[in-house]
Amino acid sequence: MILEYHKIDLPENRWTRTPDNFRRDLQRLWDRGYRLVALNDVLDGKIALPRGTTPVVLTFDDSSPGQFRYLDRQGEWRIDPDCAVGIIEDFARAHPGFGKSATFYVLPGADPPNRLFNQPDHATRKLAYLATQGYEIGNHTLWHANLSRYPEHVVKNQIASAQEWIQRHVPKYRPRTLALPMGAYPREVRWATQGGVNGTAYQHDAILMVAGGAAPSPFAKSFDPYRLPRIQAVEHDISTWLTYFERRPEDRFVSDGDPATVTIPAGTAAKTRQFPGVRVVERP
Ligand SMILES: [Zn+2]
Repeated sequence: MILEYHKIDLPENRWTRTPDNFRRDLQRLWDRGYRLVALNDVLDGKIALPRGTTPVVLTFDDSSPGQFRYLDRQGEWRIDPDCAVGIIEDFARAHPGFGKSATFYVLPGADPPNRLFNQPDHATRKLAYLATQGYEIGNHTLWHANLSRYPEHVVKNQIASAQEWIQRHVPKYRPRTLALPMGAYPREVRWATQGGVNGTAYQHDAILMVAGGAAPSPFAKSFDPYRLPRIQAVEHDISTWLTYFERRPEDRFVSDGDPATVTIPAGTAAKTRQFPGVRVVERP
């Protein structure tokens, strides 16, 4: 599952998960044996989890304020314990082994409040924090452009500019993935996978959609990195998918505990995608 969050705020609605509900999501995942993994590691086939656990990826779109907020505590800037980053960090501390990763699809050039979490004085500190503390920054275009509507040069400019603006805060950081605003593909997918404008070259290893359900295992041939489905993190969809995997455990990715091997059902080798350094073992 690649979960897709938007606002973490009050009250709960279609595009908002409350801090308490987000905590409850993490608890439900933990209780059912899910562990956080970084999307880039999934793309690289590096799933280093204890035997019997299942990877889950968190993504946050649109850099709204409740995703990452600093509070002034008697002159000291602290991460708000009710923002997404604060909640993930507290949960990870209280549940060793859960992991601490998420990909933030930020909007560097959007209007407030969606411009880089809406605290301009802290934008650099936040992006640097994400880049160095186990999180990932992803491209979501400069200001949430619907890429299906524009010619090639505008599409490429939106994507390259977003990366350039991110790199003003974290020099040389390379966003490896792009989440399509509104799930809209440009006329040619390759415009979004790589390009260059005014000296800024981008290359994406994956493109994320806004819906589509659970993603295939990265070790499955059906895994298409340029069409990665996500599950919108609203009550109904989260509950539905958790229940689905309880009823269909054979569809769930369960770690064999060894990052150097992937264990597959006997007879399914032809459907398996290979990664250098990962040995495929057929379960008898
Ligand atoms: Zn968005």
